[in-house]
Amino acid sequence: MGWITGAAPTQAQLDACVTCGLCLPHCPTYRATGDEAASPRGRLTAMAAIADGIAEVDETFAEMMSFCLQCRACETACPSLVPFGRAMEGARAEIAAQLPGRRRSARRWLVGSAIANPTLVGAASFGAAVAQRIGVGRSGAGTIGKVRGLRRLPLRSSSTRGKSWPARGVPRGTVALLSGCVQDPWFAEVHEATISVLRAGGFDVVAPPTQACCGALAAHDGAVAQTRALAAANVAAFDGFEYVVTDAAGCGAHLKEYGHWAEGGDVLAARVVDVTELVAQLLDDGQLPEFGSRGQRVAVQDPCHLRHAQRITVAPRRVVAAAGFDVVDLDPSGRCCGAAGMYTITYPEMSESLGRAKADEIDRSGAAVVASANPGCEMQLRSYADEAVRIVHPIELYAAALQGRD
Ligand code: SF4
Ligand code: SF4
Repeated sequence: MGWITGAAPTQAQLDACVTCGLCLPHCPTYRATGDEAASPRGRLTAMAAIADGIAEVDETFAEMMSFCLQCRACETACPSLVPFGRAMEGARAEIAAQLPGRRRSARRWLVGSAIANPTLVGAASFGAAVAQRIGVGRSGAGTIGKVRGLRRLPLRSSSTRGKSWPARGVPRGTVALLSGCVQDPWFAEVHEATISVLRAGGFDVVAPPTQACCGALAAHDGAVAQTRALAAANVAAFDGFEYVVTDAAGCGAHLKEYGHWAEGGDVLAARVVDVTELVAQLLDDGQLPEFGSRGQRVAVQDPCHLRHAQRITVAPRRVVAAAGFDVVDLDPSGRCCGAAGMYTITYPEMSESLGRAKADEIDRSGAAVVASANPGCEMQLRSYADEAVRIVHPIELYAAALQGRD
């Protein structure tokens, strides 16, 4: 049957792979298994076989694709510039279309509909807040155990959506904040830090009321219609802002690829910045102050969707250093921590093995604080690192320095 949707991997994407194998040592699933079918090259070869009519989209193909973390480490390693992330999103779209009753239909509902619904996210957040207070999930594995990865949630959370905050001093412009689906209820302190630093840098900050979830999880899961609808809503909601600021690397990576998902998406994509990018620029321009070293080490973890998808590595280090900390590199090779959206639920063993490897790196670094610019990574690190290690977003360190706090 071949491909049946317009979202399928293109022939140009597949032809770009010259099967050199240089990506293999960078792929976490290949490194763990040594199996060609779990490698970027193997996955691209399987996609090409379907495009050529040699194979069908079946359970075996679906499993090969689903086991991929979509970390895109293969993309940064690839000398032929194969757009692996795009090809994998296309393959997932085909699996969703051709195998609609696949066993992950519940997960598809979760990422395609539930997580984009603020009411359902709010109810789940309340449940998690209660679970934290009665001690469920302090230990153990699986979904309940992951409650440990959450920050302490408020019983009543408030949303940034529809609110605005004026610049401190004379405004230099207005930026929009992506409120996000779980960033609002679960990482309110990160939004607070982002808003306070942007205001100090001279920006009015607005969180448009009609914005939606960015759609990254839906895209990664092949939920094409949902992805397109969310992208269209955000193109309209963020129209006219100088910058659209995200403080979640996974969301930023997806927004920067909106050109593939919505009319006018490329215009929005060009204005999207990770908060660390914008703050690094303000530091370079002398618009924000830098603080001298306080002699404390902070390990910087590179989220895959910052390092590999957005190719941003300098900015978070710049922000942490400007806050007065000595930066320690956690993982120079940039291996995935195993969070990867819903991967902690769908492939818990692989996810745990990568999470534990990252925790070992934190141990070796000797740092008591780790800075991670992505909420999923933060939760994964907190799940496996020593409980004494503090996990924060880089912007929180800088905001605290700006306010004279530790
Ligand atoms: S994806 Fe890139 S690095 Fe990997 S085998 Fe193909 S051409 Fe080589
Ligand atoms: S995205 Fe990550 S897990 Fe998937 S093939 Fe590439 S390197 Fe491997």
